[in-house]
Amino acid sequence: MRYEVIVVGAGMVGTSIAWHLQEKKTKVLLIDRKSPGSETSYGNAGLIQREAIHIHPFPRQLFELLKIVPNNNTSIRYRWPALLHYRQALLQYWQFSSQHLVQKIEKEWQTLIEHCTCEHQKMITAANVENLIRRDGWIEIHRTETKFKAAVEVAKKSCDQGVNHQILSLKELQKLEPHCNFKGVVGAIHWLNSWQVSNPGALVKAYAKSFQNMGGEIRDSDVKKILPDGDGWQIITDDGIFYCNHIVVAAGPWSNQLIKPLGYDFPLFPMRGYHQHFKVQNENTINHSLVEVDKGFVMGPMQQGIRITTGAEMTLIDAKKNVGQLSDVVAFAKKILPLNDSVENEPWCGSRPCMPDMKPVIGAAGKHANLWLAFGHGHQGFTLGPITGRIIEELIHNKPTIVDVSPFNAQRFSKIE
Ligand SMILES: Cc1cc2nc3c(=O)[nH]c(=O)nc-3n(C[C@H](O)[C@H](O)[C@H](O)COP(=O)(O)OP(=O)(O)OC[C@H]3O[C@@H](n4cnc5c(N)ncnc54)[C@H](O)[C@@H]3O)c2cc1C
Repeated sequence: MRYEVIVVGAGMVGTSIAWHLQEKKTKVLLIDRKSPGSETSYGNAGLIQREAIHIHPFPRQLFELLKIVPNNNTSIRYRWPALLHYRQALLQYWQFSSQHLVQKIEKEWQTLIEHCTCEHQKMITAANVENLIRRDGWIEIHRTETKFKAAVEVAKKSCDQGVNHQILSLKELQKLEPHCNFKGVVGAIHWLNSWQVSNPGALVKAYAKSFQNMGGEIRDSDVKKILPDGDGWQIITDDGIFYCNHIVVAAGPWSNQLIKPLGYDFPLFPMRGYHQHFKVQNENTINHSLVEVDKGFVMGPMQQGIRITTGAEMTLIDAKKNVGQLSDVVAFAKKILPLNDSVENEPWCGSRPCMPDMKPVIGAAGKHANLWLAFGHGHQGFTLGPITGRIIEELIHNKPTIVDVSPFNAQRFSKIE
């Protein structure tokens, strides 16, 4: 059977693309080797981040770099094989992190972020999953006066961009989260118009179900090869060959592997994160996700329990788990909240798909007609899946796009042989 579009990758990004295309009556096959929302889009902190108007640049101040070098920082860790393997991408990341470029990139990035909640809302309504969404924001906790003051100044400026927040005194914070021990906390920022999802994987599965309800098809297959086939494409999987007019590669951190044989090589690199759930008992319920800025972790109320998610570990995508970073943040989290019983024996890990210029790739591949790319959403792919889906639908159908897509074009990096 020939499909109009095949989307490879059923994470938040690929599923949202398939949903938007099918909604416009385009016949879509969504292929993933696992069930929808089983990889990075499952294990994240579940925040739909309207407040995320700032990007994550490479630290350029000497004192910031010196904090990372000993490799015991809980926010960011690294392993030497990954530093060597991704050295070129990291060098580019450093170059794109100059103050001047960060300002330019943030303006472009914000054009996507401003649509995140509206675009999720459309899909939430269609999928009928209001029960998974909480709209009372998340809380950023500070333990250092100087950093807190600086964060408050940045927060004040974000009001101009439609980001709502409230500065919380310790008393107000304690009232919102009565079970937490906030000893040592100097203040907090409550980001009011960001949303919390109580089961990120379930949200992707619900979007996928909504896609199926509109007539879309899903296959659990491992894509082995993508080959040009006349004006269209041939997709070779472990259990069959499928044909289509357009193909969209939205395979998160694995995207580059799939398109390399076609002559593309993007500086896409993985930034790993870990999570573990802890059983909820009477004395440890929390109402909001709490982000510990100094230690770089998130503690969020999920259906599975209290999910502790770590910051980033620069490592190879298939490297063995190293749970040191998670153990360190869990030890710290236990000072805030009793976390006695873990739900799983083994922590989860997954990789944020990152680009050196901190922007996703969204658009036509360049060398081949009808090959579309959507990956590299880094720390906010769960937030940006739906807006990306809308843009890819508009591009494939040759419509004007809701945002200027030129800053996200694929040609800015692709080395076409
Ligand atoms: C610890 C952590 C916390 C995070 N917290 C947040 C947050 O709060 N908010 C936020 O917005 N973002 C967050 N992120 C980032 C976010 O999770 C990712 O950016 C996002 O999930 C990426 O989605 P994706 O669809 O591109 O990739 P994925 O979800 O990884 O999906 C890619 C899919 O492609 C499939 N695939 C790959 N290769 C093949 C193949 N050959 N054949 C078939 N299928 C294939 C995979 O099986 C997978 O399902 C976090 C990330 C981490 C690690």
